[in-house]
Parts: sequence; C-alpha cells; structure tokens
Amino acid sequence: MTLPNTSHSNTAPSDKALVPFVSVDNMMQLIHHIGLETMLTGLATYIEDDFKRWESFDKTPRVASHSDVGVIELMPTSDGEAYGFKYVNGHPKNTSEGLQTVTAFGLLADVYTGYPVLLTEMTLLTALRTAATSAMVAKHLAPAGADTMAMIGNGAQSEFQTLAMKAICGLKSVRLYDKDPAATRKCAANLAGLGITVTECTTPEEAIQGAQILTTCTADKQNATILSDNMVGAGVHINAIGGDCPGKTELAAGILSRSDVFVEFPPQTRIEGEIQQMPEDFAVTEFWKVVTGQAEGRRDPRQITLFDSVGFAIEDFSALRYMRDHIKGTAFYEDLDMLADPDDPRDLFGMLGRAKP
Ligand code: NAD
Repeated sequence: MTLPNTSHSNTAPSDKALVPFVSVDNMMQLIHHIGLETMLTGLATYIEDDFKRWESFDKTPRVASHSDVGVIELMPTSDGEAYGFKYVNGHPKNTSEGLQTVTAFGLLADVYTGYPVLLTEMTLLTALRTAATSAMVAKHLAPAGADTMAMIGNGAQSEFQTLAMKAICGLKSVRLYDKDPAATRKCAANLAGLGITVTECTTPEEAIQGAQILTTCTADKQNATILSDNMVGAGVHINAIGGDCPGKTELAAGILSRSDVFVEFPPQTRIEGEIQQMPEDFAVTEFWKVVTGQAEGRRDPRQITLFDSVGFAIEDFSALRYMRDHIKGTAFYEDLDMLADPDDPRDLFGMLGRAKP
C-alpha cells in the first residue's frame, strides 16, 4: 500500500498533547515519597469528599465478565467534568500460580474534550483506596474507642487495611488469621515495627477475641462462612471486604439479619455483596447518606454495624483525582503518546505520512 504523500513533517509537533502514565514502579516511589499512611489519609479525604457529592455522579453497577475461575470488570463513572474507569480482575486461584488475585489499571478523562488526562496502574492504588474507604467508613461506624481489629484473610489487601485503620481510626492492635499460616507470617513480618501490636492467631475464633472491628478479606469463589452467627457479639463493626462477586460471600446470613448494613451503591451490592444472600427488599443504608447527615450511622454501643463493601467506581474516581493532583510537579510519571493529533483533525489518514519511511 502506498501511504499518502503529504506536506506534514516527519515528527510530531512539539506541543503534542501527551498523557501522564504512572507505572507500578513510579506508584511505589510515589507512595514512599508521600508516605503510605499520609497517602491513605489523603485518599480517604478525597473519597469522603466524593461521597458528600454522591448525587452529582453518573452511577452504574460495574460491567462484569465472569468465568469459572474469576471475573474481569469495568468500573466507570463521571461527575460531569471528569470521567474515570478502572479495569480490574478477581481471580482467587491466581495466587496458587504465583499471580495476583486482583490487578488493575485506570484512566481519567476530560469530559469536555473526551481526551484522557491520566493513565495509571491501579493494583497498588486499589489496595490503598479499598483500605482508605474501609477506614473512612469505620471512622463513622465503629464503636467509640475501637482500637483492636481482627484481620481475617492475610493476603495482598491485609497490610493496607490494617495501616489505614491505624492512620484514620487510631487502631493500636491487629489480630491476624488466615487459613494459610504462611500468609499470616508474611503479614505479621510486613507490619513489624510499624507502630501497631500484631498478634498471630491460629483460628478465626482466637482472632476475634477482644476486637471491636472485624475485617474479613478472604478470596474464595464460593459462599464461605468466615464468620458464623455465634462468633459475632453486640457492639462490633464488621468490615466485609472479600464477598464482592455473585456466589462469593463470607458471612453467615444470620449476621446480616442482626446488623445494620451499610452499602456503597445498592444495585451493585445486591448482586455482588453479602446481601445477595438476603431478599431483594432487605433494608440497607447507602453510606453516602451517613456522610451527608441524611441517615444515622452508629446510634447505639450494642448495635452491630456492617460495611458490606464491594468496591464502587466513585472510590476509584476519587483515587484517580488524587493521583492527578499529586503527580503534578513530580518525576513519578512518564508521558505517553496515545492521542493522535493530525494537523487537520479530519485528515487522520494524512497523519500516517509523518511515519513514512
Ligand atoms: P489474596 O488472594 O491476596 O488474599 C486472600 C487470602 O484469603 C489468602 O491469604 C487466603 O489464604 C485467605 N483465605 C481464603 N479462604 C480463607 C478462609 N476460609 N479463611 C481464612 N483465610 C482464607 O486476595 P486479596 O487481594 O487480599 O483480596 C481479598 C479479597 O478482597 C478478594 O476476594 C478480593 O476480590 C476482595 N477485594 C475487595 C475489594 C473491595 O473493594 N471490596 C477490593 C479489593 C479486593
């Protein structure tokens, strides 16, 4: 094929719009540069700010493509000025193959032009935003003075969950349990020296002893019973992270009946969350209403509060906004040439001439 003979130069114009890209390596460096707990606290503020303006967002349950071994999802939202989406997978069998259960990347775009303004890795960022969301919710719902958490499931999310609770809720002590003792040893070693008392437990019953916050963060594509009804006493806050897919839950249904359940976006949570076990009209509170004062959070020290977290697109949007604002003026990104810029916008074909050998 003969390419067009155009008058265009062979190089792209110097004012070409480039898209900042944050690689995994740069994300790691940025986290160290900002400080993990400072970043978790900052992310929680961005997420809370977006929960306060929940009604201004386009909301849709995420688009999920299920297979026998996992799920691949797209999570879009927009506030009318910016548009964001995340690509994320969930493959519990991956760890046995030396791969991550969850990997992700995301993009932020300008609604006015439709042009991307940021592309970033989101595997680490998802762990941070999930932990920041958990802690932001626990700040509103956990019983006063809560300082001990049971962390059941000691995989990739677990240290982030613990440190966000420390930074945002004043957690002093964490009690770890995983069905795989190697995961517990890994989590304990990673948390050593970070200003939190760590206790390694050999059963979930031992882990919940004396804990006011119970976090479940296991990965198994089945209706599991990580917490049975008789394990949950009055006055605790449950932060249920791992049940986030149809057919994948962690809590006995009896716990849900005894709890006040708080969710992100009910149409998505009813499909994916713990409440998929309950009738369609099971009463839940949308958490953004607690943040805006339109609904009550914890009203009684003996009440069981339950955050049925599945992860919602607005939390990723907040994280993308945080990244856009915090990479400015740093060296923690590279510019990507991912926007075609023909000299005449209608002459895309002609632009090929720039690369003509
Ligand atoms: P991971 O595979 O790294 O860790 C999961 C851990 O759970 C493993 O160590 C495994 O041994 C343990 N486990 C499995 N079954 C168990 C059981 N019955 N009892 C005790 N431990 C058990 O996964 P991860 O990245 O830490 O993610 C954990 C879960 O959280 C996944 O299901 C993931 O989909 C979910 N997740 C939710 C959100 C959200 O926003 N709600 C965000 C990220 C991840």
